[in-house]
Amino acid sequence: MRTYRIATIPGDGIGKEVVPAGRRVLEALAAQHRDFRFEFENFAWGGDYYREHGVMMPADGLDALHGMDAILFGSAGDPQIADHITLWGLRLKICQGFDQYANVRPTRILPGIDAPLKRCTPADLDWVIVRENSEGEYAGVGGRAHQGHPIEVATDVSIMTRAGVERILRFAFRLAQSRPRKLLTVVTKSNAQRHAMVMWDEIAAQIALEFPDVSWDKELVDAATARMVNRPASLDTLVATNLHADILSDLAAALAGSLGIAPTANLDPERRYPSMFEPIHGSAFDIMGKGLANPVGTFWSVVMMLEHLGETEAARKVMTAIEAVTANRALHTRDLGGEATTEEVTAAVCARVGG
Ligand code: NAD
Ligand code: MN
Repeated sequence: MRTYRIATIPGDGIGKEVVPAGRRVLEALAAQHRDFRFEFENFAWGGDYYREHGVMMPADGLDALHGMDAILFGSAGDPQIADHITLWGLRLKICQGFDQYANVRPTRILPGIDAPLKRCTPADLDWVIVRENSEGEYAGVGGRAHQGHPIEVATDVSIMTRAGVERILRFAFRLAQSRPRKLLTVVTKSNAQRHAMVMWDEIAAQIALEFPDVSWDKELVDAATARMVNRPASLDTLVATNLHADILSDLAAALAGSLGIAPTANLDPERRYPSMFEPIHGSAFDIMGKGLANPVGTFWSVVMMLEHLGETEAARKVMTAIEAVTANRALHTRDLGGEATTEEVTAAVCARVGG
C-alpha cells in the first residue's frame, strides 16, 4: 500500500471552504483504492495566525512541510491585512523556499460550461500556461526610501538569471513536446524591456534547438491577450514570465468560463521539495463564508496532484467525475450562473469518485 503524506493549507477566505472540499474528494478516492492511501496534516496558517503571532506562518514552517509528498493550498489574502504581507508571508514563502519554479496552469472549457467567446468551441481552447515562478518581476528585489517625503522613491527590480530562464524554457519545451500538437508560444516583451527580455528571447532560440520536433513562435504579451481572444485555436502551450503569466492565466480562466474552475501546480520538477497544488483564484472576500465558492478549481488541482504523484488512473477518475458534474447545470455554482452550493458540488464529485 502506497502512502502519500499530504499537507493541507487552507489559508484565508474561501480557501477554508475549498481545501476541505478537496480533501474530501481525496478521501472518497482513497476509500475505493486498495493500493494507496493518504495521510493528511493540516496547517492553520494565514490571516488568523498572523493576528495571533504577527507572522503568516511559523519560522520553521518549511521544515514541517519538507517531508510531505505534496501540498494542497487554498489562498492567502485577508481583508484586514495588506496583500503584500499575506502573499509574501505564506504562498511565496513556500513557492520560493521549495524552489517550485514551474507554475503550470491548464485551461479548457469543461463540459456544460458557457464560455464568453461566442465563436469558440471547447476544441478551440485547450491551453497550458507555464509561468516562471521563482524570479522575474516577483523576485522581491527593490526597496523604498524617504517614505512620505516628496523625494520618496520605490523600486521593484525584475531579476532574470540565465539559469532561471533556461530551466523554465526547457520545462516548457518539454511540456509542449508531451502534448499532441507539440506547439509552444514564447511570450515576451523584448521590444520595450530591452535587457532581460532580450536575453529571454535569445535563450528561447537556444533551447528550441534541443527540441526540433516542437514548433514554436514568439508573441509580445500585449498581442498575446488579443490572440487569446481572437485566435484561441492558434495556441497550445505558452510560457511567460512571472508577471506576464499571472495576468494571462486569469484571462485564460475567464475565457474558459470562470476563475473558480482554474487549477495550478507549483512544481519543483527536480523533486527535491514537495510541490504545491492550488486553485488560481484568491480569497474571494465578496463570497467568503457563504458556501458559494466553486470548488472545481481545487478539485482540478487535486487531479494535477495525483498526476504528479504518478497516480494517473486515479487522476483520470477524478477528472471524469468533475466533467460529469460540470455537465449538469443544476450543479453549477453562482460564478457559472447557477445556484448550487460548494457542498452540493463537493457531494456530487465525491459520490462519483467513490462509486
Ligand atoms: P479573487 O480570485 O479572490 O476574486 C476575484 C473574483 O472572482 C471575485 O468576485 C470572486 O468572488 C470570484 N471568485 C474567485 N474564486 C471563486 C470561486 N472559487 N468561486 C466563485 N467565485 C470566485 O481575487 P481578488 O479579489 O483579486 O483577491 C482577493 C484576495 O485574494 C486578495 O487578498 C489577493 O491578494 C488574494 N489572492 C491570493 C491568491 C493566492 O493565494 N494564490 C491569488 C489571487 C488573489
Ligand atoms: Mn494571480
